[in-house]
Amino acid sequence: MNILVIGAGPAGLVFASQLKLARPDWRIRMIEKQDPESVTGWGVVLPGRPGQHPANPLSYLDDADTLNPQFLEEFQFVHGDQSSRMPIGVLMCGVGRRGLVHALRAKCQSLGIEIRYGAAPTNVTDGVGGEFDLVVVANGVGHKHDGMAEALRPRLEYGGNRYIWYGTTRLFDQMNLIFRAHETGTFVAHAYRYADRMSTFIVECSAATHACAGLERMSERESATFISDVFQSTLRGHALLGQPAQGWRQFMTLSHETAAEGRLALLGDALQSGHFSIGHGTTMAVVEAQLLVKALCTEADLPAALANFNAHVLPLVQLFKSHADCSRLWFETIDERMHLNHAELAQHFDARRKALPPLPEALGRELGYALAR
Ligand SMILES: Cc1cc2nc3c(=O)[nH]c(=O)nc-3n(C[C@H](O)[C@H](O)[C@H](O)COP(=O)(O)OP(=O)(O)OC[C@H]3O[C@@H](n4cnc5c(N)ncnc54)[C@H](O)[C@@H]3O)c2cc1C
Repeated sequence: MNILVIGAGPAGLVFASQLKLARPDWRIRMIEKQDPESVTGWGVVLPGRPGQHPANPLSYLDDADTLNPQFLEEFQFVHGDQSSRMPIGVLMCGVGRRGLVHALRAKCQSLGIEIRYGAAPTNVTDGVGGEFDLVVVANGVGHKHDGMAEALRPRLEYGGNRYIWYGTTRLFDQMNLIFRAHETGTFVAHAYRYADRMSTFIVECSAATHACAGLERMSERESATFISDVFQSTLRGHALLGQPAQGWRQFMTLSHETAAEGRLALLGDALQSGHFSIGHGTTMAVVEAQLLVKALCTEADLPAALANFNAHVLPLVQLFKSHADCSRLWFETIDERMHLNHAELAQHFDARRKALPPLPEALGRELGYALAR
């Protein structure tokens, strides 16, 4: 079997390395649009301890400890001048995206998988028609439908809020959710440590607040100064660091009715993206990758494998979408709850968490199925 993987992010990399281990004689080539140094985003949270939790991509590395994962077990909930803690209910592991992606790429290369960087956009139809038996599209939310079957056309929905992903040297010892009532409107920060000296700091606000604060007219530096001022008591003088061309955005939910068609399969964010407030995107990428590996290794031929992949992955991505949409909407309607006192808002947040569709259970079940091979 000769396979092309488009996109060297977590989804494509876990798929390629796991398939190569299972079928060493199959040829796998990866193409990556960016140069090796360009990895966007700061830290992410992953489930469980590396080596012990198969949905954690660090579990597929030989030396995950060198990435210095940070363990988080509680939410720190900050509203007004009060803060309180509540258990997350599971152990979470913070890690830098750059280190994670670089380590997964090194793993693929050590297995003999070629990764071509700076690749020009590929016409997947030509790729399939020519050299490759299977093209796995794992190019993230940038996934375009050009050259693919109509069935693989993505549906795009945009969140109402604006968000920006900063890094900071201010170290947060838990998963912090910080609610700030500012004269221009409400700002919410999602902040957690992902390395010895770095934390992720994602800020979101409504479109009206964004406009009222004049953020759309500010430079990246002015915007960081303004947000630092809003969260002054939290940041305690630590700067907010942006990334080039990664300014304020609307969260894009990309979804599909089908995950594979003909000789094409979609994986990770290219198949289904979900709001960052649930921190499950990378986990989904890992589980989907393992389901595709399972299907390719156990079914008699490619059509049967892709049918099996569709059958297992589609219920999961639908659950992921509804779980992520519920969570996104809770944050998008936060103004309705900002009058609540600290304890009431924390209780509302906790009740929302418990009412979310049961994604973790479904992920565990499908991963168990995929790994029994
Ligand atoms: C603000 C924010 C916070 C998040 N926090 C978390 C979190 O805490 N936990 C979590 O699990 N998830 C989190 N996520 C989601 C997570 O980042 C994604 O779900 C995950 O990266 C998906 O992996 P992927 O490989 O599908 O896509 P990506 O990581 O986007 O990788 C896709 C790769 O494809 C490349 N590419 C794009 N187009 C092409 C092309 N035409 N040809 C070749 N290559 C191409 C890109 O350069 C990239 O390297 C967060 C997302 C956001 C936006």
